[in-house]
Amino acid sequence: MPAKTLPFTLGQLESIAAKVGTPFHLYDEAALRANARAFNQAFAWVPGGFKNFYAVKALPNPHILAALKQEGFGGDCSSIAELQLCEAVGIRGEDIVFTSNDTPAEEFQKAHALGALINLDDISHIEFLERALGGKLPEFLCFRYNPGPLKAGNAIIGKPEEAKYGFTRDQIFEGYRLLRDKGVKRFALHTMVASNELNPDYFVETAQMLFDLAVEVFQKLGVRIELLNLGGGIGIPYRPGQQAVDLAHVGNAIKAAYERTLVPAGLAPMRITMECGRMVTGPYGYLVSRVLHKKATYKDYVGLDSCMANLMRPALYGSYHHITVPAREGGPRKVYDVTGSLCENNDKFAIDREIAVPAIGDLVVIHDTGAHGHAMGFNYNGKLRSAEVLWQGGTNCRVIRRAETLADHFATLEYPGLVG
Ligand SMILES: *Cc1c(COP(=O)(O)O)cnc(C)c1O
Repeated sequence: MPAKTLPFTLGQLESIAAKVGTPFHLYDEAALRANARAFNQAFAWVPGGFKNFYAVKALPNPHILAALKQEGFGGDCSSIAELQLCEAVGIRGEDIVFTSNDTPAEEFQKAHALGALINLDDISHIEFLERALGGKLPEFLCFRYNPGPLKAGNAIIGKPEEAKYGFTRDQIFEGYRLLRDKGVKRFALHTMVASNELNPDYFVETAQMLFDLAVEVFQKLGVRIELLNLGGGIGIPYRPGQQAVDLAHVGNAIKAAYERTLVPAGLAPMRITMECGRMVTGPYGYLVSRVLHKKATYKDYVGLDSCMANLMRPALYGSYHHITVPAREGGPRKVYDVTGSLCENNDKFAIDREIAVPAIGDLVVIHDTGAHGHAMGFNYNGKLRSAEVLWQGGTNCRVIRRAETLADHFATLEYPGLVG
């Protein structure tokens, strides 16, 4: 099995750790930008223009959003906080898509105030939105399509017909008819049927499905959809030996479908968009910790100075995150449970994992934490979330979020004397 490599040296890591303290998430800016460019390149052919709306929830840090904005990305939001992060870095108007599910009126109002493209999750939300906006729908609206049994689901997102999201096929037609009759002028269509999917054909099939539906809507209702959003869900190779999705291949195959379906139907130029989060930042983030303890009981344990506050995915989903011990790679290996410090037996970054045998005090790097890493952390057991650091080559780095303090943690308690 080929090992996963690190872009930085142990010396560089130790130098950053000396400045910031462990644990911290480290994000590789150059690699992240290069990946964003390759993504745009794969869809540079789209005659109506391509844009990835970065799913802000994956890594909600304005410094990251600002870098992605520079690379031409928009933002995909589903809360007021996420909308405000986009606003703060100057992602506005139709560079924001607001996709949510069980949405309060204030969120629709904020999204509308920013000029975001609102993506409705249900046919009943048309009226809800109309009321929330004082009786007038936006000029431009999007629907989220749930293909139900017409599309087999992937392992993580489950079967579309069991998912809480989106309109049925019949509701899509009814919904556009309603919008048209209410005077809405511009239309978009979205679907999101995968999560962490590594099969490139899946995305080509999804595009074909939306292309066919857009053509049918045009033919049956005369409603001309101008933007298709293929959703997110492009997976990343968490495990050594897994293959990243070949974006150029996906782009070319979607181009063929576009020419076969949209062009003859008179629906070109069509804007094609996506809202990937994981594949944009996931592989370029690393959780850097130190070994605090080793223990040998019924099993062998390596205890780190981080925990689920810093990375939930292994405990929450049983997800694999590769682990490197930079000082010991190439040396003897042994099987351990690699644990965090919570009073919760599932607080483990890896179970029965062979890693290079570490010494107490060694740095340990957990890979692929750039999406749903820091963002998902919680404060159970009063554990604090770490700093986030943007790595800019060599020992250059920038703290883009400081670590939480006990004062932060106690701030909502309003109890005298409890100030951290
Ligand atoms: C989470 C989410 C995404 C991003 O998914 P990734 O797997 O990170 O690409 C995109 N769109 C919606 C509506 C989401 O909820």
